[in-house]
Amino acid sequence: METKATCPYCGVGCGVLIEHDGARITGVRGDPDHPANFGRLCTKGATLHFTARRETRLLYPELRKAKGDARRRVSWDEALDTAAQRFADVIEEHGPDAVAFYISGQLLTEDYYVFNKLMKGLIGSNNVDTNSRLCMSSAVAAYKQTLGADAPPCSYEDFAETDCLLIAGGNPSYAHPIAFRRIEDAKAARPDMKIIVVDPRRTDTAATADLHLPILPGTDIWLFNAMLNVLLWEGLVDNAFVREHTEGFDALREHVREITPAVAAEVCGLGPKGADDIRTAALWWGQSPRAMSLWCQGLNQSTHGTHNGAALIALSLATGKIGKPGCGPFSMTGQPNAMGGREVGGLANLLSAHRDLANPEHRAEVARLWGVADVPEKPGLTAVELFDAMHEGRIKALWIACTNPAQSMPELERVREALARCDFVVLQEAYGNTETVPFADLMLPAATWGEKEGTVTNSERRITHVNRAIPAPGEARADWAIVCDFARKLGSLIGKPEAGRMFGYAGPEPIFAEHAETTRGRDLDITGLSYAVLDTEGPQQWPFPEGAAAGRKRLYADGRFPTADGRARFVVPTGKLTAERADARYPLHLTTGRLRDQWHGMSRTGKVARLYNHVDEARIELNADDMHLRGIHDGDLVRVRSRRGEIVLRAAASGEIRSGQAFVAMHWGSNALNSAGINVLTLREFDPYSKQPELKHATVQVEKANLP
Ligand code: SF4
Repeated sequence: METKATCPYCGVGCGVLIEHDGARITGVRGDPDHPANFGRLCTKGATLHFTARRETRLLYPELRKAKGDARRRVSWDEALDTAAQRFADVIEEHGPDAVAFYISGQLLTEDYYVFNKLMKGLIGSNNVDTNSRLCMSSAVAAYKQTLGADAPPCSYEDFAETDCLLIAGGNPSYAHPIAFRRIEDAKAARPDMKIIVVDPRRTDTAATADLHLPILPGTDIWLFNAMLNVLLWEGLVDNAFVREHTEGFDALREHVREITPAVAAEVCGLGPKGADDIRTAALWWGQSPRAMSLWCQGLNQSTHGTHNGAALIALSLATGKIGKPGCGPFSMTGQPNAMGGREVGGLANLLSAHRDLANPEHRAEVARLWGVADVPEKPGLTAVELFDAMHEGRIKALWIACTNPAQSMPELERVREALARCDFVVLQEAYGNTETVPFADLMLPAATWGEKEGTVTNSERRITHVNRAIPAPGEARADWAIVCDFARKLGSLIGKPEAGRMFGYAGPEPIFAEHAETTRGRDLDITGLSYAVLDTEGPQQWPFPEGAAAGRKRLYADGRFPTADGRARFVVPTGKLTAERADARYPLHLTTGRLRDQWHGMSRTGKVARLYNHVDEARIELNADDMHLRGIHDGDLVRVRSRRGEIVLRAAASGEIRSGQAFVAMHWGSNALNSAGINVLTLREFDPYSKQPELKHATVQVEKANLP
């Protein structure tokens, strides 16, 4: 038998057909009808069925009575009764802001929706944030500041239409392989198409580019501003578009006046050819009839991630290259359903259907839709703030779902201390072996890929109905169902009997229908979609309002933007660089990123032997000159130290890395390191608008490890 679903890894959102016998998953193949991939899968997606194994699954609820005790198996009733009582006790004694949910872009939209509704609509706090905060919240903030709404305007089809593709802060060859195949196809079909890659490393993606700009980490804004400077000098700005459809260009034009290619080349560390290369990039962009950008974590995971995105979007707006085929700014999400989470407002500062928590009318609309008196005004704690508050004892009970903060958060030792200090930690998880498991007082077994039904939205705004192929093992349950049962129990303890009405769903489908209704009249209106429509018509892009025959491939084709006056905004960006500067003690710029064949913390991909064929152990990639200077040889063990911690890794000479820089993949955790992960080195400073931390950069020292 075959069941339609999507790949649960990256934000490309490829369609898969799960092969199974009703009890076991036996294979997987790309769905030839899915518009994201047309049957193709990358190495990770093609080996998904090998991850569907029982050995590392959490099968039963487990509870410990007191810190230090071992957890023991309990019934679902005892587990959720205990959780409800502990949360109710904290809420009564310390108020609703003393509890929090930390959820995940791996969840389905329906799961996200009920978590959000529970915290903001029933408990009365906005303390629900997600690991998507670490992934794309800067892109969200950049879209909202410039275009007026969190809505990526492009489609994957645009790769085949564009004449110039500017890839910044992303390595889609590894991180979004099937999207990159489409880019390669476009280049093969039209060799005169220009590909520009901005990346400190000469990645596989950069190696295929017509022009690689290996800038120093954190200098992207200077590069984009210098490109705008050239566009102005060369008369390549679309003055009519700027005049009729935008605001704020004069201030930005003034700002970039002195940021010439020569100035930017110096700041960006591009060497003697740098100014010419910047000029070339700007001319290619400006002279191409159709140009688009593509960005990812390299821009987002920065203390100025929002302005990184805004400065890149400004290139599209200044040249009027938006809303047309092959044009526009396009951010990719890292996770499979980060977009779905954004749609339901699953971040501490957002509300359902792209509404803003800070807007009293939006809060009133959501309260009316949910049938509650109000939605609290006070913004919730974002990921870094949440664990900081827990470290200080202000968060007493935390519910984590489908994510592994004890590996993925920056400044990891502090996060682990915070988890250890928290009075009550619930972990809703499919796997029983992540770094966060030891901190859990209550473990709740969750169904995962192939075992649950719902919807996901990929990076091009395309919603897919994913289906359950086999039953979940043991007593594992669908995430939405766990949340709803907990909500009803909690409601009866905190004097909110309306929980029964609010969370009485018979399945995920009515949750989707309710979510769709919240979008009515909004920029992402999906009132025309239902599971039945998605099943008969296939995956659809939003908006898809009631009565529509199809979703929309591109946004802003009419030049109107979802701002109060219909005009897009230019933002004058900061000139800041990285939060940490290299110095004599910590002279190397460490960047982090993905491997081709691993995913996040490896709880899935780490089980598949063939996925180690590409890279088989944790290593730090260094330039040969830097290794020589330190007496380090290829394969030596080295001690890597930042201001926050240290790890031991094997050194690997890499031609991708410039002198003065280093690279470690983000995936390796306690399975491969003498610590919980690479993030013992990273820092928790974050962007002031998006609150996304600078996971992409830290300064480190590296020395040969003299291990006993
Ligand atoms: Fe899965 Fe992404 Fe690979 Fe597609 S490109 S198969 S979504 S990991």
